[in-house]
Amino acid sequence: MDDDTERRIGANEAAFRKVNESLRAGKTLVAADRLFPFRCECGVLGCNRLIELTLPEYESVRAHAARFTLLDGHEIPETEHIVHRTDRHVVVEKQSAAARIATDTDPRG
Ligand SMILES: [Zn+2]
Repeated sequence: MDDDTERRIGANEAAFRKVNESLRAGKTLVAADRLFPFRCECGVLGCNRLIELTLPEYESVRAHAARFTLLDGHEIPETEHIVHRTDRHVVVEKQSAAARIATDTDPRG
């Protein structure tokens, strides 16, 4: 995979993370096991699928700048590896150049 492709994928994922951060805003006082729809944060062009996460699950992804949550099978093995898997979603961690983009664009600084 070339650098441009890797950058585009990273930018895509960062954009979806931003959408999810605004979806998450305002959902603080709810049960920990309640499921909420979030955007799949994958780098697949045109993906607009939703995944269901509890807020603690979502927070545990956001605690790491280089991690994203995706539908199972939407991961791109060349730039990311799966660190966690449930029956609803997978959590991936970006590698190398993609990880730098993810860290630089983290809305939580
Ligand atoms: Zn996807």
